[in-house]
Amino acid sequence: MKTSGVIEGHILTPEGFVQGVLAHEDGRIVRISGDPVEERVVRHTATDIVLPGFIDLHVHGGGGRDIMQGGDAAQRVASLHLRHGTTSLLATTMTAPLSDLETALTALGPACRERQRGSARILGVHLEGPYINSGKLGAQPNYARPASMEELKRLDALAPIRLITLAPELHGNLELIPSLKAEGFQVQIGHSLGTYEDGVEALHLGAGGFTHLFNAMTGLHHREPGMVGAALAHARYSEIIPDLLHAHAGAIRVALRAIPCLYCVTDSTAAAGMPDGDYMLGRHKVTKCMGGVRLPDGTLAGSTLTMDQALRNLVGLGLELDDASRRVSTFAADYLALHERGRLTPGAWADVVVMDRQLQLKQVIVEGEAL
Ligand SMILES: [Zn+2]
Repeated sequence: MKTSGVIEGHILTPEGFVQGVLAHEDGRIVRISGDPVEERVVRHTATDIVLPGFIDLHVHGGGGRDIMQGGDAAQRVASLHLRHGTTSLLATTMTAPLSDLETALTALGPACRERQRGSARILGVHLEGPYINSGKLGAQPNYARPASMEELKRLDALAPIRLITLAPELHGNLELIPSLKAEGFQVQIGHSLGTYEDGVEALHLGAGGFTHLFNAMTGLHHREPGMVGAALAHARYSEIIPDLLHAHAGAIRVALRAIPCLYCVTDSTAAAGMPDGDYMLGRHKVTKCMGGVRLPDGTLAGSTLTMDQALRNLVGLGLELDDASRRVSTFAADYLALHERGRLTPGAWADVVVMDRQLQLKQVIVEGEAL
C-alpha cells in the first residue's frame, strides 16, 4: 500500500524545533523543511506540535485485554495504545509456567511480523520474568525460577525476544548475562532483592538497564545502597513509570539527575483505557480504582498510564518539551538500537504524533498510516 502525506507545524527534529513541513512517503520520512523556532514559542502559539511517536518498552495490556491471553489480544492492546500516541511497543509477558508463555508468544509471532492497520508496531517481546526473585514479585504470580538459555531459545523461536528482565542474584543468572547478550538479548535488572554489588556486577557483565526503577527492587540506604543505589550511581538507561503513583515526583527528580537516559514506560495493564472495575493481569485478578490497578491486598499491579499522559506528567514536573519527548521516545529506541525510530529525521519511519499546546493528541501516524 503506497501512502504519502505532509504534516505542518512546530516539528521537533534532533537539532531542535523547526516551524515547517514534514513529508513522508511509503512509511518513511522523506523531507523536513522549515526555520528554527524556540521552545518557549512552541508552547505559546496555536501552531500544532509535531513530535516523534511514543515508544513503550513495557506494555502488558490495554483496552480490556492482556498480552498473556494470546489470540488477538496483542493487536487489541496495540490498537488501544496507538490511540494514545504509542507507535511502537514491546509486548510484555508475566512470570508464568512455560506453557502459558508459549501460548502468549505463539500468538505474538505473527503479530510481530506483520503490523495490523490501526495498531502500533509490536517490536517484539519483553520477558518480565520468570527469571526474577520470588521475594520481590510485585504483582507477578510465583512461577519465578533461574534463567535457562534453552527455554529462552525455544521461546525466541516463537516470537522475537528483545528484552529480558531478570534478578541477577538468582542462582546462575549473573553468569548467564554475557551469553544472553551474545545471543542478542538486551538484559535488564528488576524484581530483585540483590545488593548494590550484585547490580554493579550485572552492569559490568552487560546488563543494560533497570525495570521500573524504585519498584520491586532493594531501596537505597546510605550504608546499604541496594539496587536503586546501583542504578542511580551507574546506569545510563532505566525505565521509570511516571504515573505519580509508582514513584513520588521527588524520586523521579532524583532519577532524572542521576540517570542520563531515564525513559518512560507505562507498565500498563488490561485496565488502561477502560472504566473502573475488575481485570485480569496474567493469572491475577486486579481492580482498577482511582487511577490505580491493585491486587486485593493493595499491592500496585501495573498501571493504567498511557504515553500521552506520561509526556504531560513529565512536562508537569518542569521538563522542557524536547527533553520530555526524548524520554517517551528517543531513549527507548536508542536502548534497543532502533535507529530508524524515536526521531523525526529523513529516512526514519514516519511515526509521528501531532498535539495541541495543551499536549492533547490531535493526530497519530504510524509508519505513514494516519489513524
Ligand atoms: Zn510489568
